[in-house]
Amino acid sequence: MRLDSKIVHIGVCTDTKTGALSTPIYQSATFRHPALGESTGFDYTRSQNPTRKVLEEGIATLEGGAVGLAFSSGMAAITAILMIYKSGDHLVVVEDCYGGTYRVIDKIFSNFGLTVSFVDGSSKEEVAQAITPLTKAILVETPTNPLMKIVDIRAIIALAQEMNIHTIVDNTFLTPYFQRPLELGADIVIHSGTKYLAGHNDLVCGLVVARDAELGARIRYVQNSTGGVLGPSDSWLLIRSIKTLALRMEKHNENSQIIAKWLKKHPKVVNVYYPGLMEHPGKEIHDSQSSGYGGMLSFVVDNSQLAAQVLRKVKLIRFAESLGGVESLITLPAVQTHADVPSDVRERLGISDCLLRLSVGIEDAQDIITDLEQALSE
Ligand code: PLP
Repeated sequence: MRLDSKIVHIGVCTDTKTGALSTPIYQSATFRHPALGESTGFDYTRSQNPTRKVLEEGIATLEGGAVGLAFSSGMAAITAILMIYKSGDHLVVVEDCYGGTYRVIDKIFSNFGLTVSFVDGSSKEEVAQAITPLTKAILVETPTNPLMKIVDIRAIIALAQEMNIHTIVDNTFLTPYFQRPLELGADIVIHSGTKYLAGHNDLVCGLVVARDAELGARIRYVQNSTGGVLGPSDSWLLIRSIKTLALRMEKHNENSQIIAKWLKKHPKVVNVYYPGLMEHPGKEIHDSQSSGYGGMLSFVVDNSQLAAQVLRKVKLIRFAESLGGVESLITLPAVQTHADVPSDVRERLGISDCLLRLSVGIEDAQDIITDLEQALSE
């Protein structure tokens, strides 16, 4: 079965007794045991729930991994991954990762003895130099958030395999529809399912897929022990949302290309970061590992007052955090999503008060352009 069909058929007719097309919501905290020492396979919903199981198996199929796991948020998913490591271990992480990822590593896991080097993931040399004998994993996002830099997934995997350490890819921006890092040899994929997978700005959730069963079992042990699981109703909502992923991603992709090209020509726009532009330095690598560009782009306007004006004046596009939903959203990463990245790091990276991040929705592209046009004019 091809990917588009697999996407649609997640959770279809899982209840063989009734033949229900849609997976039922098993809104039960606990499950009756048939007898002492016997189990239906479900004992208690934190450990496993039939609705969540359908979702977990579904995302594992789409990413091409052995084990899928669903969490109450993307951050709960990332936290569970970090908890498979121990005090004294070292990680190499892309420096312009999602601000919450930076924060949880820098401010929470540092208290438990996990050490980290934040590096420019687009430089293989920088990544290689950061690896020490204590390094256990390299964590990358590609495209990065919000600067849309491209990390060469194959090169990172080659480095990691040479050192016998894990490659972890946050695949939130592209989803398995456009990019499948496990097929390239990565060990773990993470998602803020809140974004494109849920796709409607109405659900917070996270997903993890491990390439092999042993690693998957380690993460499942953390999931059950620490309990940040996705509830049955939200699991159902995510299954339902994923079914239209292919259609939505195609439209996000089409719209973002039109808008990136339009922004590029706007006199008040100084720079556009979008891997689909011919002049993007990572385009060739991106094209070799992904089949689309997604719906995210960032652009720099010529002064910070203008950036504030855009946020104030947009109408169709909403000034709100998050991304990946059907509605277009715009943010200023320096004061929102990336506020917890130290200001000197932000400055060095170019996450300035003039940098706006646009999550291009699936509205008519011309309507989005009309809104940007009026928001950028005096
Ligand atoms: N990873 C990326 C790339 C994100 O953009 C986000 C949130 O914006 C997260 C992880 C965290 O996910 P959540 O907000 O669902 O906890």
